[in-house]
Amino acid sequence: RPVGCRYFSLLRDKNFIGGEWVAASSGKTFQVTNPVNDKVIGIAQDSTPEDAEKAIKVASGSFNMWADLPAKEKGIKLKSLLKLVNSHSDDLAKLITAECGKPLAEAKAEVMYSAGYLEWYAEEAKRIYGEVLAPPNNTRELVVLKEPIGVVGFITPWNFPLAMLVRKAAAALAAGCVCVARPAEDTPFSALALAALVEKAGFPAGTFNVVTSSRSQAGPIGQALCASPQVAGISFTGSTAVGKILYQQCANTVKRLGLELGGNASYIIFPTADLSRAVQGVMGSKFRNAGQACVATNRVLVHESVFDKFSSMLATAVKTQLVSGDGFDPAVNQGPLINEQQFQKVDGIVKDAVSKGARVVSGGGIHPTLKGRFYQPTVLSNITEDMKIYNEEIFGPICPLYKFYSEDEAVTIANSTRRGLANYFYSNDYAQVWRVAKRLESGMVGVNEGLISAAEAPFGGVKESGFGREGSRHGVDDYVHTKYVCFGGL
Ligand code: ADP
Repeated sequence: RPVGCRYFSLLRDKNFIGGEWVAASSGKTFQVTNPVNDKVIGIAQDSTPEDAEKAIKVASGSFNMWADLPAKEKGIKLKSLLKLVNSHSDDLAKLITAECGKPLAEAKAEVMYSAGYLEWYAEEAKRIYGEVLAPPNNTRELVVLKEPIGVVGFITPWNFPLAMLVRKAAAALAAGCVCVARPAEDTPFSALALAALVEKAGFPAGTFNVVTSSRSQAGPIGQALCASPQVAGISFTGSTAVGKILYQQCANTVKRLGLELGGNASYIIFPTADLSRAVQGVMGSKFRNAGQACVATNRVLVHESVFDKFSSMLATAVKTQLVSGDGFDPAVNQGPLINEQQFQKVDGIVKDAVSKGARVVSGGGIHPTLKGRFYQPTVLSNITEDMKIYNEEIFGPICPLYKFYSEDEAVTIANSTRRGLANYFYSNDYAQVWRVAKRLESGMVGVNEGLISAAEAPFGGVKESGFGREGSRHGVDDYVHTKYVCFGGL
């Protein structure tokens, strides 16, 4: 047990393949560190494509057995896993905070959010229905079956290391698919902890596998998953850049693909908005996980009639409500940024904006007293189109404010991006609410609400934010084929 580290009952340091804990064939491992102090939490296997191929093979071997299990039985297994996730919620949350840096309360919320998907898909397993269609003549019956697609590969990010994996795995397993997951190198332990609970829940060996690796093997393992004819589909959550690589790599085997990529969410404050609620909404939507979420607000558009009032209310909230530090400290609600690359990127975005004339309303730089990768929660105004912050996904606690003058202008700005994951707006003009909700080009819209994701609802994007939906009954679509059977000669 590395010195200076907390003890985690669910910490595992091997791959989980075919129901067994195995070392990478390379014999190599890599260190996983806590982003708050860079102390080593533990080691994980630095796997190669060879390990991924082993996992694909055993998953493939378990597919028919899992697929053939009655839906009710699949649901029961998922419920056992749900129970274990609930009973280990503190352990899971601590592990998430340790490897991802988010405040413990947010880590607990992530565990509950993950449990929501397990509960939903444990129930949904029984409701994956086919159809009986009206035939064109009486000599035929037309039946539509929903069949699991087979082995699916998951590539998951570090910002919601448990939830992003659970919401894929729960839907896939409910549909009758079997999984090979490659979690992000920053946060492999949440995925391995889930595997430990999958093992305890008694899932058949091979139905859920986890192969970890350092960043250097992320590409080769991703390539192996995409290239394998034994893998029927890939589900990826991460950056648009990597999503595009995977999309290309999947062409050769014409794979099913679900892509949950980056966003560029607008958060629009119309003149009739309840400003106090709008401020609280943006605090959650922008500063949760220190802004490191794909649905995080990226651009706050404020009508000129309420701009000054809103910006001063927001600056006060940011100064008085946000406390940076170690996520294990209960007073803290802003953790560090995940790694040096993200930290430099956020700093670069702010410096670029300020050098081009942005006004710092609050914060504006690296945290003055805390050591490590802490960025001050920042509010900027006077943003212009030539700034990086206008176009890029920030992924940090930086809130840029733009002034707008008309509904049309706000909607045009919101839609002037190749991303389309989430948008939010606050208004109490009911006709405007309906109009704007329809015109916004995104997979999700929050109206008078800044945190909208739920297991009951379909999560996903349009344009370069990807395709496929996770959560809700639509979440199984990526994992089933629609098969038409024509019974003739009747
Ligand atoms: P982020 O910027 O959030 O790290 P990435 O898209 O880079 O987003 O990472 C998301 C996940 O994709 C991580 O698990 C990462 O290791 C993995 N990844 C990065 N590059 C590739 C690649 N070329 N092929 C497959 N997976 C990759």
